Amino acid sequence: MAPPTPAALPCHLMGTQGQLAEIAAEVRGCTRCPLHRGRTNAVPGEGNPLSDVLLVGEGPGAREDATGRPFVGPAGQLLNELLRSVGWEREDVFIANVVKCRPPGNRDPEPEEVAACRPYLERQEQALDPAVIVTLGRHSLRRYLPDARISEAHGSLRRSGGRFIFPMYHPAAALHQASLRETLFADVRGLPAALLAAREALDAERAATARKAMQRPVEPAPVEPTATDQLTLFQEPT
Ligand code: URA
Ligand code: SF4
Repeated sequence: MAPPTPAALPCHLMGTQGQLAEIAAEVRGCTRCPLHRGRTNAVPGEGNPLSDVLLVGEGPGAREDATGRPFVGPAGQLLNELLRSVGWEREDVFIANVVKCRPPGNRDPEPEEVAACRPYLERQEQALDPAVIVTLGRHSLRRYLPDARISEAHGSLRRSGGRFIFPMYHPAAALHQASLRETLFADVRGLPAALLAAREALDAERAATARKAMQRPVEPAPVEPTATDQLTLFQEPT
């Protein structure tokens, strides 16, 4: 059986695409945190607006800052390989980051920077309404599951609020630590099945919500008084 590919819902195209373009334009002009001072290009994110898979990395590196595109450096090459290993292309998914501007020297983003940038990622999530969010690395995982440890959560489907989360190690970590490469490939092998499971669970929940809405008790119609009632009503008290 061919691996399931991220879903396309043509009726969502215009709305989602327009919203994503609007967010990207705002990000490119954003000065909400000090990271804007050091950037060459902001990196809003890119990918298939019809996809129901959202990948969330940490923040742009040097190549991303130079090009304005996410995951185009060495970590991006590995990410492409990982996606291809399950029959996906990066054009099948949407790729974004926790912070949209490069932290100087690739340092970790500060909590205030993450907080300032948060509304953009939130709006990207709302626009895409993904069945699964794949977190790449600790910073991204923390955003959805603050108490989870990546060493335990990686490669498994989790729930955060209404969203399904599939935590993975950051591809850049595998560039420094060879053993993580195998872990990444093993984990991504579980992603298509996790996507199917998440879609089925969300479909079932939506169907149950719709059923409930249709079973809401109907307000009883006011009872018209009958002729006898009226007579009784207008009788003088005796
Ligand atoms: N690392 C990230 O977290 N994001 C990118 O876009 C590139 C490298
Ligand atoms: Fe704005 Fe985010 Fe860039 Fe900070 S990192 S300037 S909040 S887009």
